[in-house]
Formats: sequence, C-alpha cells, structure tokens
Amino acid sequence: MNSNQAAESPSSDGEVPLQQAAFVHSLKKVKKPLPASPKISEIRAISKNSLNFLRKYFPEASSQDWNNWKWQVRNSFHSFEDLSKIINLTDLEKDAIRDHGYHLPLRVTPYYASLLADNDDHNAIRKSMIPTMAELTISPGEKEDPLGEESASPVPCLVHRYPDRVLFLATNFCSAYCRYCTRSHKVAKDPQHYDLGHWNQAFDYLSLHPEVRDVIISGGDPLTINEIHLEHLIASLRRIPHIEIIRLGTKVPIVLPQRITRSLVQMLKRYQPIYFSIHFMHPSELTPETVEACTRLADSGFPLGSQTVLLKGINDNIQTMKDLMHGLLRTRVKPYYIYQCDPIPGSAHFRTSVRKGLEIIKGLRGFTSGYAVPHYVIDVPGGGGKIPLLPDYIVGKEGNYLLLRNYQGRIFKYPDMEDGS
Ligand code: SF4
Repeated sequence: MNSNQAAESPSSDGEVPLQQAAFVHSLKKVKKPLPASPKISEIRAISKNSLNFLRKYFPEASSQDWNNWKWQVRNSFHSFEDLSKIINLTDLEKDAIRDHGYHLPLRVTPYYASLLADNDDHNAIRKSMIPTMAELTISPGEKEDPLGEESASPVPCLVHRYPDRVLFLATNFCSAYCRYCTRSHKVAKDPQHYDLGHWNQAFDYLSLHPEVRDVIISGGDPLTINEIHLEHLIASLRRIPHIEIIRLGTKVPIVLPQRITRSLVQMLKRYQPIYFSIHFMHPSELTPETVEACTRLADSGFPLGSQTVLLKGINDNIQTMKDLMHGLLRTRVKPYYIYQCDPIPGSAHFRTSVRKGLEIIKGLRGFTSGYAVPHYVIDVPGGGGKIPLLPDYIVGKEGNYLLLRNYQGRIFKYPDMEDGS
C-alpha cells in the first residue's frame, strides 16, 4: 500500500476524516439548525451494468447500500488485491502498483469501477484510474506544482491569481483519483487542508478583499465533504457581502453520483447562485446514474458546465470529443473548457501535442452547434494562468479586407474598419 493512503482513508462509516473538534465551535455559527442527513439516499435506478457488478462482487450488499454514497466511499477499491478481483491487471499495471513509487494513491468507487471492469485494457476509465509504469517516468518540464499555485497562495487553502476570483482548496480527498491530476502533489497528501483554522484564515482574507466576487471551491473534491461541514463553508462565504457567485469544481456526479442526494441539493439551493464545473473526461461517463445526478442539479436551477482534460489515447480524437460534447448538452451541461494536460511528474503518456488540441477544436467549430464547442486552454506552467488557443482563422489581409478561413477551409473577405476617429 502506498504510504499516502493512510492519510486519506475514510473512517469506518465512510466519512472523510475531518478535524471534528474544530468544527464543534464553527457549527454554532450556522444560524438554522439543520435537519439530519438521511443515512440512505433516495430510491433511484441502478443501471444494468452496475446491478450486475453489485451482484457479482458485493453479493451481501443491497441496492440501498449501493445507492448510499458513504457505502460507496467505504467500499472503494484502493489496493492491488481489491483490483485483481475485478480485472485482469496487465504487467505494466501490476508492476506500477507493486512498485509503490506512484504519486497518487489508488482509489476507485465501486460504481466507477463498474465502468472499467470489462477487462479491456484500452478502456478510457481504466486508463485514467489505474497506475501504470509510465507514471514513474519523469520527463523534462514536469513539475510537482506546474501551475505555481503555492506561490499564489496568500493563506493556506486559497489561491489568488486573477483579479476578481479565488480558488478555495477545501479538502484534499477525492472519492476517485485521476492519474493526471494537476494537484497530485496535494490531493490525498496534505492534511492541513482539513483544518478549520485554515478555512477561517481564508474567510478573513476574503472579507478584507472586496475585489473578490467569485469563489471556486475545489480541492480534492468538495462534494466529498460531509453535508453539515460543506454548509458551514458555503454559508461562511455567503456572509461575505461582495462574494457574488460560488462555483463548485467536482467530479462527484461522475464517480459518485449517489452523493447528489435530495438533501444535498436542498441545502445548496439555499445559497444560490452556485455554479457547477463538472470534470467529465469521456462519453462513457454519461451513464443513467450520472445523467440522473446532473438532471437533479439542473432541475434545481444550478448552471452546469464541464471541464475536460485532453488525454492521449483516451479522448484525443474529434469523434470522441464530439460525442462527449453532444452528450453533455443533452444532459444540460454546457461544455466549458478543454484543458491541455498539465505537466505533472509522470504525465508524458497522457499529454498530447498542442496541435492535436487545435485539430479537435477545428473539427468541432462549424461542424456542430457553437454550444458544443468549449474553450481550449493551456494553464501555463509558472503561474501565468489560462491562455486560450484557437486555430488560425485570420489568414491575411488585402487592402482593407481581412482574409478569413471558414470551417470548410474556404477563404472569405471581410471589409475591416480602422479604429479611431
Ligand atoms: S477529481 Fe479532480 S482533484 Fe480529484 S483526482 Fe481527479 S482531477 Fe484531481
């Protein structure tokens, strides 16, 4: 077992470890007493694939267990022995898991594991969740903190890079760990992010910075936080008058859709406007369970957007991206970003060329609805922020005419204007 795993393991009831004592004081500040969270989430459909998996690998468990997000966390796969029960690991996967040199712990919820248990080692979800030896090869330009977030952090758990918005790193726990995670140097490793004292420092900082109008809560995955603590976090932000919008960056609707309970949604609705940035990777993630979770959020009035990391051999072709973007729109999730994969240590096998990303955008723009075309960006190493990239559509100038290339490659002239009086 990787030594990091002990730091991120949930307790026996599936709760993510939190510094409970520190919260006793804070909860007194929540104005209204909250109804107890139901132990078991609502009755909901289980897809045939998941049902078969449940019966095969958890014969003692009920459908209610399966639909209980804490049961999912508690029964996650996080060891070589666990995984060997559901898939035939390749030699490269076995060696990586035995080597223990990989950066992130292994963790996959039973639900998400049901999507990779087909013994196809080209399965996109498997490639994103199971370490291979390639992860242990460090290539030039790779860094632990490629985005330079540490140097843009005025207090622990805040990153303040852009003028009017901040990133709030609320937890270091995820219910499933993506092998290409930008914050692999932090998630599952840095227990400081569980400390309410640090949250309070962030609230104090934000109170003193009226220019901040937008807070993106991320981590780790904020929706793995217990509901009462999550409400404390969001309510505390809402008490700061200049904070206009809150965004939740999460992969939970995809890896743990059982977490999107009515109780959670009712709680979040009290603090609108809240936007969701959902981390989708592949069309195979759009299962009935995930669609139901997103529908529940959309029906409750939360604007939903997607962010997708461009990954070699997983989603780096036009058709896969088009299928994903169309599926997202059908699910009422607006495709927002395609990210160039960040150069974290051991990521070369995931990273494509920038040319590939531009080729995908070129293959979407004009060929499908503009709503289905996200921004393609590089979050540049060294802390320069997101830089949007577009194929070259301006190809030259003839006098006052701009020469523009359309999506079919045909050239058109546009009579341009001079600026000024
Ligand atoms: S869900 Fe996000 S924070 Fe968690 S491992 Fe994946 S990319 Fe990293």
